[in-house]
Amino acid sequence: MFEKILIANRGEIALRVLRACKEMGIRTVAVHSEADRNAMHVRLADESVCIGPAAAAKSYLNIPAIVTAAEITHADAIHPGYGFLSENAKFAEIVEKHKITFIGPRPEHIRMMGDKITAKETIKDAGVPVVPGSDGAVESLEQARADAKRIGYPVLIKATAGGGGRGMKVARNADEIDVAFQTARTEAKAAFGNDSVYMEKYLGKPRHIEIQVVADSHGNVIHLGERDCSLQRRHQKVFEEAPSPVIDAETRAKIGKTVTTAIKKLGYLGVGTIEFLYEGGEFYFIEMNTRLQVEHPVTEMITHVDLVQEQIRIAAGEKLSLTQKDVIFDGHAIEVRINAENPETFTPSPGLIKDFHAPGGLGVRLDSAAYAGYRVPPYYDSLIGMLIVHAPTRAQALARLKRALGEIIVGGIETTLPLHARLVDNLDIQAGDYDIHWLEGFLKPKAT
Ligand code: ADP
Repeated sequence: MFEKILIANRGEIALRVLRACKEMGIRTVAVHSEADRNAMHVRLADESVCIGPAAAAKSYLNIPAIVTAAEITHADAIHPGYGFLSENAKFAEIVEKHKITFIGPRPEHIRMMGDKITAKETIKDAGVPVVPGSDGAVESLEQARADAKRIGYPVLIKATAGGGGRGMKVARNADEIDVAFQTARTEAKAAFGNDSVYMEKYLGKPRHIEIQVVADSHGNVIHLGERDCSLQRRHQKVFEEAPSPVIDAETRAKIGKTVTTAIKKLGYLGVGTIEFLYEGGEFYFIEMNTRLQVEHPVTEMITHVDLVQEQIRIAAGEKLSLTQKDVIFDGHAIEVRINAENPETFTPSPGLIKDFHAPGGLGVRLDSAAYAGYRVPPYYDSLIGMLIVHAPTRAQALARLKRALGEIIVGGIETTLPLHARLVDNLDIQAGDYDIHWLEGFLKPKAT
């Protein structure tokens, strides 16, 4: 087992990894930018190293600085968290070249899944159903028009290098295809430095259902069921739950089997998430994330598996701590993302948290690095934490979430907490009756 792990991240995910390490008796090294000197992950780690100025490109994305920090502190492994360098195959390669273990999948798998066209082809060949679409990249306007006609409107143009919902454009009919194609390309180029795009059938009322997989280096692959992440704004998840209100045990076992068989075929290592759109009882693969996800706690709460400890053990060459038969699905968990943003306009609201109170009690978990007196810096993602609840049933989980939302205090800045308070009271949410477009409709100002 590792003696010391460097955590190449910040905020709640740095704390999450730190907690797993502490429980395993592993020493921790925090890295931080000049803007994060007083951050909680720095305060709680055994050692810390400043890796550069505030801008992420010069600190949390600064590969030489991070690798040097690992070398001078004699860390034997690096955990990348999520975001930043977590899906950067080059980083994983460089880390391994320095004889430091990268806690994550092999670089070739990160690279394969990072290119969404290759990912889709590979997954399809491994026996997993995908969204109907173009055969690889769409190179020209003529091809876009022809593909859209063949697939049938509406269609969605997506960036091959995509992520975070950027570079996606819908064309509802032939009049919209030219503009959709051009703007998707321009956006993809600006966001990812790569203007390659592909096309998919635009599904009208799907749910976003994703399957958590875990694979070790001994050929063992298990799935930990699904998460329903259909409540999204601008293709970004806002509220997640497990199990999904629309997936029964039989469906779960079937898709779980399909996915684990495919993952085994690929020789994948570590934790991963296979994302699907689910409509009319059918699953359609959209992408695979080769890292831990922000919504991982809901899976942890219902399966009682510590995904970060599992990642660490796998990277150290150990076997999975459980088999598929040992996996239980206990009760219901819901996570809401707390962003430092105005809850109506979603404009970022960095600044000083003057007052902070964490909710507690049975079945309540708060993953956050915020505290009273903490200044949310304007340089990074606006996520300041996740509130997670767990209860025997979905109705009880919603009641618990409402109760916890009534307790939590984050004063001094604006957050998305008031939005979550509205969501738990909503009848569609209570009925579990929502799809990926529901939240956008809910947020639209009502015509008077
Ligand atoms: P990203 O990598 O940018 O997150 P994804 O492929 O994971 O992109 O898609 C993000 C979200 O965009 C999905 O959860 C879904 O809400 C929406 N989406 C993606 N593909 C489609 C599709 N073919 N039809 C309808 N919505 C889609």
